[in-house]
Amino acid sequence: MIKIYNTLTRQLEEFKPVKEKEVSMYVCGPTVYNYIHIGNARPAIFFDTVRRYFEYRGYKVNYVQNFTDVDDKIIKKANEDGITSKEVAEKYIKAYFEDTAKVNLKEEGMTRPKATEHIGDMIKIIKSLVDKGYAYEAQGDVYFEVEKYRDGYLALSHQNIEDLKSGARIEVNDIKRSPLDFALWKKAKEGEPSWDSPWGKGRPGWHIECSAMSHKYLGDTFDIHGGGQDLIFPHHENEIAQSKCGCGGDYARYWMHNGYININGEKMSKSLGNFFLLRDVLEHYEGRVVRLFVLSAHYRKPIDFSDAELTQAKASLERIENALVRSKEVEAKDGGSDCTDLAKKLEETKVKFVEGMDEDFNTALGLGAIFELVKELNKALDNEKISANGQKVLNETFEYIKTVMEDVFGVKLKLESAVGNLTAELVDFILELRRDARTDKNWALSDKIRDRLAEMGIKIKDGKDKTTWTM
Ligand SMILES: [Zn+2]
Repeated sequence: MIKIYNTLTRQLEEFKPVKEKEVSMYVCGPTVYNYIHIGNARPAIFFDTVRRYFEYRGYKVNYVQNFTDVDDKIIKKANEDGITSKEVAEKYIKAYFEDTAKVNLKEEGMTRPKATEHIGDMIKIIKSLVDKGYAYEAQGDVYFEVEKYRDGYLALSHQNIEDLKSGARIEVNDIKRSPLDFALWKKAKEGEPSWDSPWGKGRPGWHIECSAMSHKYLGDTFDIHGGGQDLIFPHHENEIAQSKCGCGGDYARYWMHNGYININGEKMSKSLGNFFLLRDVLEHYEGRVVRLFVLSAHYRKPIDFSDAELTQAKASLERIENALVRSKEVEAKDGGSDCTDLAKKLEETKVKFVEGMDEDFNTALGLGAIFELVKELNKALDNEKISANGQKVLNETFEYIKTVMEDVFGVKLKLESAVGNLTAELVDFILELRRDARTDKNWALSDKIRDRLAEMGIKIKDGKDKTTWTM
């Protein structure tokens, strides 16, 4: 039974999907005006792992993550660089895929809609909100009137509307009815991208795009909405208001929010100057190390980013790989160990892993169970002799760890020695076929094999009795 800590209820709840054995999930994506920083990488990696775990547990996952490709920051960047907003967005979407491919996000079967391709869907919801009296037009802008949704507003962020009102700054010349009202549509300004609407030329506010895209791909009631903690208010609160009032339905049933990344104990921020781009980090650490680092803490807790932490993740990964490579080098011997302790630990780990991950995707517990198993695997490998039965246990353990690490955690393992052995066996086999061809005096095939191997960097040397090869 999978349980999720729901920000809405502040409780751990049993996950009951809208459709049996299916999961519909929306996660707010990046605003594409810069390369992504490691604070963006955390939700990308974590929610990718949530998706993978659901699949591991037999669910079909419909996962949507958007690109915000129209926004003040994009417009500003376009003006600075002397290019169009569209060019800025295209550049950083491409960069996003380059960077995230290195941390192994599973793109297959994912939907990645762009805001600018869904303006019509947004206008439809805004129009419905105006028609129902939840929103009003003011000088070409359209605002959501928070007072009209007083009872439901702030349920996610657990705030009080009066507190918020007294804290809000009232701007002189404000055209809004209340400082809490937020923009659904902004009137076009000179030099900005704009679209036609019933309220004249303009562009959408930020919040409405997620309401429109989640509604389009997942319907008016779906399972999980995710994002960073910083999005709870106002972004997610406003999404709920727009969607419930404009489209009906429950909107998202489970709200999951990941914690911040701290740099040496301080919150990462541009103003503090401790701001790290994912691509810079990837110059020093492999993507799989970054991935393991992100998953080593519970997603709701802050995570400390430092060289020491990344070095530790790298060492953990090597420990797993070394044990697995070693386990493949064992040759079975009669009278050797049956590895019964390891067999027992393997069964225990399978249970512990699922228990840990079922409890609000506790990757720290899940990984902890795998590390314990690796410890036991190393102990088994210290046996002088291992029987054929023992070797079977080693193989099962190898397969289990590899599946969990690669399929669920998305951390690709480098098992060079095992792969190296396979390559050697394959080349030997190809040379055996070439020998057969030569016996049959099929010189054309024999030469073709030699030439193709040479193209792959494998040189062969025909000796008197034997053909040898080098790479
Ligand atoms: Zn969003």
